[in-house]
Amino acid sequence: MRLYDSATREVRDFVPREPGRVGIYLCGATVQGAPHIGHVRSAIAFDILVRWLNRNGLDVTLVRNITDIDDKILNKSAEADVPWWAWAHRFEREFNRAYEMLGVAPPTYEPRATGHVTEMVELIEMLVERGHAYVGDAGSVYFDVRSWGKYGELTRQLLENLSTVEEEASDKRDPRDFALWKATKSSDPDGASWPTPWGRGRPGWHVECSAMAHKYLGETFDIHGGGIDLRFPHHENEQAQSRAAGWGFTNLWMHNAWVTVGGEKMSKSLGNSLTVDAVLEHGEAVVLRYALGAVHYRSTLEFSNTSLDESGAAWERISGFVQRAVELVGALTREEVAGTDVPAAFAAAMDDDLNVSAALAVVHEHVTAGNTALAAQDRAQVRTAQAQVRTMLDVLGIDPLAQPWVGGRAADGAAEQALGVLVQAVLAERVQARAEKDWARADALRERLTAAGIVVEDSPGGARWSVKGGTSGR
Ligand SMILES: [Zn+2]
Repeated sequence: MRLYDSATREVRDFVPREPGRVGIYLCGATVQGAPHIGHVRSAIAFDILVRWLNRNGLDVTLVRNITDIDDKILNKSAEADVPWWAWAHRFEREFNRAYEMLGVAPPTYEPRATGHVTEMVELIEMLVERGHAYVGDAGSVYFDVRSWGKYGELTRQLLENLSTVEEEASDKRDPRDFALWKATKSSDPDGASWPTPWGRGRPGWHVECSAMAHKYLGETFDIHGGGIDLRFPHHENEQAQSRAAGWGFTNLWMHNAWVTVGGEKMSKSLGNSLTVDAVLEHGEAVVLRYALGAVHYRSTLEFSNTSLDESGAAWERISGFVQRAVELVGALTREEVAGTDVPAAFAAAMDDDLNVSAALAVVHEHVTAGNTALAAQDRAQVRTAQAQVRTMLDVLGIDPLAQPWVGGRAADGAAEQALGVLVQAVLAERVQARAEKDWARADALRERLTAAGIVVEDSPGGARWSVKGGTSGR
């Protein structure tokens, strides 16, 4: 497998540090507001990475943090007149709900910044001891960028070219130094500070990721990921402080590109109309996932109603095939799907720095072949095509018969199949009743299905059914 390393700026072979195991740290949400589609694009991109690594037999530890204290959370909660932790918790839940709706598997660990202050303080003490950090007059602690010759290595910037403009009066030795620890200000709310050897205060933003990556993944790990906008200063600073502490830190950096709307990077004003909830008012979650996952993760994704409609049409074609294949040969179980090898061309595309758009082209080719087999009523070929299409969709997190797309029902092909058999039996009885012109009985059978949440539509080819609010129809 080859991945683009944004530190070396080249696509290179990915070799896990330990055979069979991969450790990934992904910068998660700052829970200061509702999740928008830019946030979930990142989560989906890395979800696809993890699924592909898992499919290749690798045991992945994914750590995705939650930044639950920072300036924005303190400011916004103060404006709303609620405690900062209540504000953070509310949006943490919104993020988790969005991830769940979009089929993003939970990470192995999801540490919160506020739960790791001890680890941060230990790291900062180590940096002070090693001469890479110092305590300012007011009790804040800063990373001394001039003490670390490799500062700027991730983003290939020379220290002398970095801006030296001061945002506010500061006790920094150099304006380019960044805060590891912020001394409590009189404007900070109660409970937003912790005791340290330098007095009470709260963490700077960058230090939490270094401390948490170290705690859960060790001194050196395989992949660090996040949105491209985090590369500087956040990731540059993470890397500087971790390596200055003597840790190897990450072996490879992966950054997903932006989502743009009308050619502009999603901003706060645009973002408000493109929260996950707002977009899902007009479209299905699986279609949004398709739209956000289909574009190569390093390419800017221009989001519009047109792109969502195109994804909807592509999804209809794929899920329509799966539906008709299940009608003819029944649903394969999850185990059968997971046990089917993906086509070589799909694997090659995924191994090529997760080229999902090329991988989807392979899915569509197999859907075409499957549709031909359906037209010929070739059951063996339809079964093979169902297995291949669904095993590829499973890697991309969009198998229509897997959670969460099957609604609240069991994610199990066997349960699907059992339901299908029972509904078909009632429908067959209804056909019989109609043939006998026993309309009362035919209506009663239909009502029985309706009462159970099954929607029946009569069509020239016979009755089709679906679960109300679900996705799978026959
Ligand atoms: Zn981070």
